[in-house]
Amino acid sequence: MDKKLIPQLGDSITRLGYGCMRFPKLEDGTMNFEEAVRLIQKGYQLGINYFDTAVVYHGGDSEKALGEAMKDYDRSTFFLADKMTSSVFQDEESMKALFYKQLETLHTDYIDYYLVHNINRNNWQKYKDCHVLEFLNEMRTQGKIRHLGFSFHDTEPLLKEAVASNKWDFVQLQLNYLDWKAMHADRLYQVLVDNNLPCMVMEPVRGGYLANLNDEFNAKLKALDPEASIASWAVRFVSGLDNVAVVLSGMTLDEQLEDNVKTLGNFKPLSEKELAVLSEITDELCKLNDIPCTGCRYCMDCPKGVDIPEVFNVYAQWRVFGNSKRFVSSYENALNHNKGANNCVKCGLCAKQCPQHIDIPNQLARVHALYLEEKAKIEAEEAANA
Ligand code: SF4
Ligand code: SF4
Repeated sequence: MDKKLIPQLGDSITRLGYGCMRFPKLEDGTMNFEEAVRLIQKGYQLGINYFDTAVVYHGGDSEKALGEAMKDYDRSTFFLADKMTSSVFQDEESMKALFYKQLETLHTDYIDYYLVHNINRNNWQKYKDCHVLEFLNEMRTQGKIRHLGFSFHDTEPLLKEAVASNKWDFVQLQLNYLDWKAMHADRLYQVLVDNNLPCMVMEPVRGGYLANLNDEFNAKLKALDPEASIASWAVRFVSGLDNVAVVLSGMTLDEQLEDNVKTLGNFKPLSEKELAVLSEITDELCKLNDIPCTGCRYCMDCPKGVDIPEVFNVYAQWRVFGNSKRFVSSYENALNHNKGANNCVKCGLCAKQCPQHIDIPNQLARVHALYLEEKAKIEAEEAANA
């Protein structure tokens, strides 16, 4: 299995890491523990040396399975990654207790890669209030954490703030060839490059979306290499980025594991021609989004509290990736924080600042109307199925 020596970390990490969040489930919806252990051990035997879990994956069962799977292997031959998740602790004491419990569950004295989980504008203050960074820095000093980082799902200004807030060793980002352009993930990646922070990649296949495109795009990729899976192009794209340390894939099936091992076990960077085809496909997918917001936030702050780039981001995700339920729930998250488009009074201040010349007040009204339409459709569907 191909490894990359990451100079800032001093570790040689396999290009493929096991993301332990999508194991097979039993009929009652709980994780199939035996299968999870078997898949993790199979990954290790195939050469993977990086395993990433979190207390919220499979309601805590993922951590348990990882601890069980790895407890008898030589601890110096693999890296464990785990996370501190804001929704799981209430205060400073329960946060600390969670960390010690994780060490126990993983049958280890130290965690190689420890992350503040999913920093975003809704939980960042809680992490600060509970002194999470101070505690984890202390754990790093004591050697219970080897490398400290955070995972991130928000916009560039908050990423810059989070990067500047501590001495980090690495950051985990959602990266794939579609988000690279459609969601401006290239800019987030550049923040890490500028700060010399290695990037762990999550969602390289966009939760499976890039494992099977439409017939036209699949055919374009098959024409490049009939033997290569559609997912392999996504995995190769991110692994080919210089500052990427490891590509995490949440593998549920043996076939996915074997395919990823085949792709990254003996890594070949994408050629210019292959990159051009991916770029064409991405451009076509991006055209589905008709509000060209880049997330620059020049239009902010709105005097009525509307989070304009967030509303447009939620809309863009829906247009490009589909999934009406996710659109409705993400938009409702903005509404619940009083940041929804319904607060807009059409004063027009924001539109004057927008370098993309977006008619912000009217586009906000349109997104809100679409939200109401989609919500009504979902409710009608649910009522019909009840
Ligand atoms: S037009 Fe609407 S979104 Fe823009 S600044 Fe005024 S109230 Fe806020
Ligand atoms: S200024 Fe325009 S492009 Fe920038 S975040 Fe606001 S709406 Fe988007």
